[in-house]
Amino acid sequence: MKGIAVLGSTGSIGVSTLDVVERHPDRFRVVALTANRSVQPMLEQCRRVRPAYAVMVDADAAETLRAALSDMAAPPKVLSGPEALEMVAALPEVDYVMAAIVGAAGLMSSLAAARAGKRLLLANKEALVVAGAILMRAAQDNGATLLPIDSEHNAIYQCLPSNRNPENAGLQRLGVDRILLTASGGPFRDAPADSLAAVTPEQACAHPNWSMGRKISVDSATMMNKGLEIIEACWLFETAPDRIQVVVHRQSVIHSMVQYSDGSVLAQLGNPDMRTPIAHALAWPERISAGVAPLNLFDIARLDFEPPAPERFPCLRLAYRAAAESGTAPVVMNAANEVAVAAFLDRRIGFTDIGSVVERTMDRLPAEPVDLSGLEHVLEVDQLARVEAERCVDRAVA
Ligand code: NDP
Repeated sequence: MKGIAVLGSTGSIGVSTLDVVERHPDRFRVVALTANRSVQPMLEQCRRVRPAYAVMVDADAAETLRAALSDMAAPPKVLSGPEALEMVAALPEVDYVMAAIVGAAGLMSSLAAARAGKRLLLANKEALVVAGAILMRAAQDNGATLLPIDSEHNAIYQCLPSNRNPENAGLQRLGVDRILLTASGGPFRDAPADSLAAVTPEQACAHPNWSMGRKISVDSATMMNKGLEIIEACWLFETAPDRIQVVVHRQSVIHSMVQYSDGSVLAQLGNPDMRTPIAHALAWPERISAGVAPLNLFDIARLDFEPPAPERFPCLRLAYRAAAESGTAPVVMNAANEVAVAAFLDRRIGFTDIGSVVERTMDRLPAEPVDLSGLEHVLEVDQLARVEAERCVDRAVA
């Protein structure tokens, strides 16, 4: 019986995680659930799965939850504040941590899980983008197992040799030539480039293949999501960005591929449902049912592949730039993107301003080497970039 902490349990990945976990009461026990301020879904989850701890980062939301749970026999202990996320991620009774908080806000708790030597199921790609070197080292030094939840990285993980270990790390030594990172292309893959300025948040969040949270949905529409995934893959699989090729595959049936030096290409296929990678990481190296409909190839009938259109997706170019500059460049890019996406969702800037805000922020804060001894430097650059990006947002509005 494995104890699980689900960080970000009220979000899209959190809800899918509980769906899989609740199918296997003989294997998993939920120890902790966390959210930012969504009291109602958290209340419903607490009554259903009866965790020992419930964290609401927002103090008022925690107070409301505490009061609402008072009639429950043996209610969960309700905690608040960002430190509580780190505390539950490191609890001795927690074996697996699902890191499904959105954005750089998930960094400290992901790191706490790695430092505590947990099995870290990492959906929070921004943590790797912002602090990949520090997070990977913490996992290695403390015997944590890091399993990717992003469907593409989970697919790549499944297509790599199972005897991979830190000693033979580096994909070329395993005979891997390239990673073929698939992308659906998002809702605007066929839209003319000059129509994108008028896109609304509702249109950007209406992904054709996946049902996801709002931030990642916008990232998919700009293809910044794929950019973040390139950087994520570099850290997870110890490879260089020029060995990762983005392939637009509109059906989202192949979740990514690995091309070997003997000409073999291995792919992982499945219906676009995040419960598959979640179940894979929960049960690894075994397999469990995920509630996902079996893939019917006759229904799909055809699989298409095309290169991404650079003029439509400047964020993809910016991510390759950040990966090549390395150091603090991905930190700046990620922070600027979070600010720009929030401003777009608030209707303060237009869709095409997102890339411009990110690019201007990157131009103003050139890459520096990352200080690997601690997170202070990274967090400082993250804050500076947020301030600079807000200025760029104001200028875009003016
Ligand atoms: P959602 O927006 O649906 O959920 C985010 C979760 O994080 C919620 O539980 C939210 O709580 C919590 N949260 C938000 N802000 C904070 C904060 N400042 N501190 C603590 N908790 C916070 O996101 P998704 O589930 O879509 O995505 C989660 C992560 O997984 C992202 O990094 C995303 O890129 C990645 N991912 C998502 C996929 C998907 O299919 N959705 C696919 C692959 C990766 P509250 O409800 O209170 O706001």
